[in-house]
Amino acid sequence: MRDGFAIRRTAAERRIPCFTSLDTARAAIDILVRDKTRLSCPAPCVLPQQEAAVNREICEVVSNIELMPGIYLMWLQAPEIARRAHAGQFVMVACGTEQTLRRPISVHSVEHDKFALLYAVVGKGTEQLTHLKTGSNLDVLGPMGNGFQISPMPAGTLSYLMIAGGIGIAPLRFLVEKVKPWCRQIIVLQGAATASKLYPKDLLPKK
Ligand SMILES: Cc1cc2nc3c(=O)[nH]c(=O)nc-3n(C[C@H](O)[C@H](O)[C@H](O)COP(=O)(O)OP(=O)(O)OC[C@H]3O[C@@H](n4cnc5c(N)ncnc54)[C@H](O)[C@@H]3O)c2cc1C
Repeated sequence: MRDGFAIRRTAAERRIPCFTSLDTARAAIDILVRDKTRLSCPAPCVLPQQEAAVNREICEVVSNIELMPGIYLMWLQAPEIARRAHAGQFVMVACGTEQTLRRPISVHSVEHDKFALLYAVVGKGTEQLTHLKTGSNLDVLGPMGNGFQISPMPAGTLSYLMIAGGIGIAPLRFLVEKVKPWCRQIIVLQGAATASKLYPKDLLPKK
């Protein structure tokens, strides 16, 4: 259980569906492609429908709290992004006037017309985000990216294993929300630099 890559490789070799953060997901898919095996989904995997135009929304900050040390959870009012987002997609966030480039952050969760970002403070852009107070505005483009490939299954037929290292947990919560209605069990394994940086278990959606 110490070597995360070994666990993910074993899962892939045994054809157990295993969603991970993007880098490890690619490694697992490489193994599947090389071995000319197929994911053990009985139905073909489908990509989420992409809508052509990139949406820009000036979102109102609903809350922005330090959930774990150096890791913030921010809820944003954004009806269009909330309606269009698929699990595994991200948004491009404008991080104040000093940062020219927008920063990509995954969609962490969606509730009605709100969505959440879970972000780790690593540099100036993400540091700027920590200063946003409830009621202030944030300029966001998205949702972007293909997202995870998921196939609806008959209720109770499938178990999912999801593995996240550090902030890799950010997109997986939304995936849990999406697959929960039809899968029998979801196991989320996570690793973090310190125990205090583990995502609180009670914040994951309940069965
Ligand atoms: C598709 C996608 C989705 C992402 N989703 C999330 C998310 O949900 N939550 C989240 O916290 N982050 C996420 N990231 C990473 C996030 O975009 C970066 O952490 C952010 O852009 C850093 O901006 P900054 O201005 O704070 O740091 P910068 O000033 O740009 O960088 C500060 C220092 O940190 C280094 N650095 C920056 N990003 C990373 C990184 N990812 N890994 C290691 N070192 C890095 C830089 O090289 C530099 O040395 C995602 C990235 C991508 C590409």
